Order: sequence, then structure tokens, then C-alpha cells
Amino acid sequence: MTAERVDAVVIGAGPNGLSAAITLAEAGRDVVVCEAADTPGGAVRTEELTQPGFAHDTFSAVYPAGAASPVFARWPLGEHGLEWVHPEVAMAHPLPDGSAVALHRDPEATAASLDAQAPGDGRGWLDLVGPLLSACPALRRTLLSGWLPVRGPVGLLARLGVGRVLELARTALAPATVLADERFAARGSRAWLLGSVHHGDVPADEAGSAMTGLYLQLLGHAVGWPSPRGGAQSLTNALVGYLQSLGGQVRTATRAEAVISCQGRVAGVHTADGQQLRADVVVADTTPQAVLALAGEQALGWRYARALRRYRFGPGTVKIDWALDGPVPWRAPEARGAGTVHVGGLPEEILQASHTVRQGALPAQPFLLAGQQSLADPSRAPQGGHTFWAYTRVPRGLDWSSGANAFLDAIEAQIERFAPGFADVARARHVLLPPDFAARNANLSEGDVGTGTLALDQVAFRPVPTLAPYRTPLAGLYLGSAATFPGPAVHGVCGRAAARFALAESRLRWW
Ligand SMILES: Cc1cc2nc3c(=O)[nH]c(=O)nc-3n(C[C@H](O)[C@H](O)[C@H](O)COP(=O)(O)OP(=O)(O)OC[C@H]3O[C@@H](n4cnc5c(N)ncnc54)[C@H](O)[C@@H]3O)c2cc1C
Repeated sequence: MTAERVDAVVIGAGPNGLSAAITLAEAGRDVVVCEAADTPGGAVRTEELTQPGFAHDTFSAVYPAGAASPVFARWPLGEHGLEWVHPEVAMAHPLPDGSAVALHRDPEATAASLDAQAPGDGRGWLDLVGPLLSACPALRRTLLSGWLPVRGPVGLLARLGVGRVLELARTALAPATVLADERFAARGSRAWLLGSVHHGDVPADEAGSAMTGLYLQLLGHAVGWPSPRGGAQSLTNALVGYLQSLGGQVRTATRAEAVISCQGRVAGVHTADGQQLRADVVVADTTPQAVLALAGEQALGWRYARALRRYRFGPGTVKIDWALDGPVPWRAPEARGAGTVHVGGLPEEILQASHTVRQGALPAQPFLLAGQQSLADPSRAPQGGHTFWAYTRVPRGLDWSSGANAFLDAIEAQIERFAPGFADVARARHVLLPPDFAARNANLSEGDVGTGTLALDQVAFRPVPTLAPYRTPLAGLYLGSAATFPGPAVHGVCGRAAARFALAESRLRWW
């Protein structure tokens, strides 16, 4: 066993782990990030999954929260190769009649698309988002800040007044179906909102679901739904590049096996390849359950251990990446220029699919989140070719050793329904079933996109109900993954917030 002394160890090189490491390195700390996988990035990586020359984003691909992130905005990521590419249309939601509703950065253009479904739907949307867009900086400070956000809500009150803020809270906490019915006459317009809700895991007719849809559509207007040129990996490379320029190190193929503690304080990390990294600060970019396994119940205390065990994951995921000979032949013109496409049809079809998953079965017509980043970024595929992906939620705990093919056929049939001729352009495909996700990244339990459900009780209080969610009872050990506030998506806020807690406490200790 080799032993080494550093100031801080970060476990996991996902966007949150890298953000924690950068924050510590900027404060002059000597930081080592140990990453179990062969490459850094966590769920932010790009690989030639199908054929040479086709650069597929293995997991995440579209980053409204990344573009809005106050954390990424602080750092010179552009100097380390990050360039945001905006598709012509942020998102399109095709409908069975061949039309589609589009989310544009321009609210007026979006309103025109909604009005084409039913005159007046556009006005319904503009009346809702107009005041919110004027309060965007305060909203950003509320939803993309460490716990407990204070400046953001104060800014919201100053900008919108108490009445409007209460109205906003009521709207966000209600089921999305209520918001959709209030605002839109056409089923197509309602489907457009409900589709975005399903980036989260709460069905659109349950309390709290409106928040996700409203948040994503607002970000679409405020910053767009962009992706990094060249693929998600460019964002990871930029974070790693900046970290290295500050003197931080990333060690890949280095799985943390245990957190060492001594007299109620963290003392370092043991890795699976026999290294002992001694440090007074350890930040874990892991699931809550992994923190428990790494540090042990004795070090964390039974009460905290019990709370971590109660942390709940969301549904699993099935994802397919395709290499295409040409663009997806969507019937709706809006979908042909969209970076993200929501494939699921009318509101009742979307709800049916999510209820079926809730009941533990696979839907016959799954709701798909799909992306075609090579349309706006031709560097991702050989000339004339395109990359395309789609993923869908599935119940946890299913046996995938047989019967997966029928479900993969159902996914392709759903695409074919809105893009006849899709099978003719599909040249090769790569499939990730729920067990494949955690094999690549231990945080992705059955492919749970959110690193924990976004059910209302677990949105604010992640991973446990406390005012300091990044601290653990073991002094010097912090949790900074998407399992902490403000939760999933690629923005780095959780990691930075955990590192700031660590720095504040170490300064206090020194004092
Ligand atoms: C299929 C899919 C699609 C998604 N799409 C989007 C999207 O389009 N846009 C978006 O904003 N978000 C998306 N997300 C969510 C987003 O990717 C995550 O919220 C985000 O990556 C969380 O970052 P993180 O750093 O907390 O964890 P992760 O990115 O999961 O990184 C955790 C890292 O820790 C490492 N690790 C874990 N345990 C150990 C250990 N013991 N030792 C060493 N290393 C360890 C893992 O290997 C991994 O590299 C998607 C997620 C999935 C799964």
C-alpha cells in the first residue's frame, strides 16, 4: 500500500465532483479526484458507441441548466475548449396529426407555435412567462444555488411582490396538468408542457410536477437548450483542464473503497488499487447509500445512516443511441431542426405511459426524450451521417435477461410513428438497459437520471431533511452529488456548495 498526503480528496469526477475540486483548488488546496471509471465526466461523456466517427453522448446531452449555471459561468471554461451550440429549435413536440409545437428561445416565436394549435394559447403562455423572465436572475439564484437559498427568494419578492411569488409557488407546486388546463385550450399545447415535465420522474398529474416543466421551458427562453460542440465530453474536458491549470489532479481507474476516519474526523480514503490518500477533507460525488458504504454506520451514526438508507431512487432508464445515414425524417417541420424532441403524442398518451411505469409495467407506447445534436454540430458524425438518441423511463427491478427486444421494438415503433422511414436511415444502434448504467457509473442506479427521485418531499430536502445537506456527521466528510440540493442536471452547483461548506468549516476549525 502506498500512502500520500493531500489537503482534500474528491470521490468521483462527475460535473459535481469536478466543481467541488475546482472550488477547493481555487482556494489553494492540494486536491486529488479519484474516479472509478477509465475516463472522467460521470454522466457527462462522449464515446463512439456505434461506429467509428459517430460521437455519441453516452448519458446526458443537452444542458439548459449548464448554460444557466452561475458556477460554470465563474470559470474560464471557454479557454479550455467549451463552446455552446444552439440548435435552430430548442425542443419540438410532434403530434399525431403531423403538426408540432416548438420551444424557441424567442417567447414570441414559441407563442406563435402554440397559437397554431389554438388561437390564444400563445397569449396564455406569454402572460405566464413574461413576468418570470424579467425575474430570471433571482429565479436562477433560487433554483441554481446551494441550500438554503436566501438571496434568490429575496430578489424574487423584490421583483415580483408577495402576491405574484405566492401565485408562482402555487403554480409550481401543483400538478402540471392543472397548469396546462389553465393556460391552454389545445391538447397539442398541453402535451408540449407535459412532455418537458417528464425530464423529471413525477407524473404530470401529481403535485409538484409543474415545477419541472415550467423551469425547463423558462430556461429555454432565458439561455436556450444548448450542447457543447463536439459532445458532452468537451464540457468535462474543460472542467478537467481548468482544474489541472489550478494544480488539481484527476486519477482515473481509481475507485474509492473506504473513507478512513479517526476520532470522529475524516482522515482520508483507501482506493481499490491499494493507495491510501490521507486528507482532512473528503467530498463524495456519490449516492447517499455509497457514502454510507464508504464511511460505515459507526462513523456516521445510526440516525444519519437510517436517513441515508431511506433515500429513494427514481425509475430506471432504457437508452438507445443510433448512427444514422441521414437526418430523422420527422413529419413535422419544427422537429427537423430541433435539438431535443419529445416523442409521445397527446396528453392522455403521455400520462398513460407514465402511469404504466408507476404500476411496474412497460408501456406499449413509451414516452421518449430524444436528441439529434449532430444537426447543429456536424462534427459529431462523418459527412452526411447523424447521431440520434432516445431514452425512456422504466420500472425498477425488472428482469432484463429476456424480453428486452420487444421493448426496444416498441421504442423504435414510437419514433417511426412520428418519423415514417426512420428504420431506413438507422444504420447501427447501441443499447443501455438498466443494469448497464450502474456498471458504467455507480451513481446511476438502474439508470435513474435524477440520482434520486424528484418527488416533492425529496426535492428540497436532499438527501436528508437538514439545513446543511452537504455535511455529514463525520467531520470533514461532505456529500456533493446530484443527491443534494438543487439536485440533478449538469450545473456543478451541488459540488461547489459542498466544497464551500468544507472550506468554511476548515477555516472555522483553524480559527
Ligand atoms: C441517461 C441520462 C441522461 C441525462 N440527460 C441529461 C441532460 O441531457 N441534461 C442534464 O443537465 N442532465 C442530464 N442527466 C442528469 C445528469 O447527467 C446528472 O444529474 C449529473 O451528471 C450528476 O452529476 P454528478 O457529478 O452528481 O454525478 P455523475 O455525473 O453520475 O458522476 C459521478 C461520478 O462518481 C464516480 N464514482 C462513484 N462512486 C465512486 C467511487 N466509489 N470511487 C470513485 N469514483 C466513484 C462515478 O464513476 C462517476 O464518474 C442525465 C442523466 C442520465 C443518466
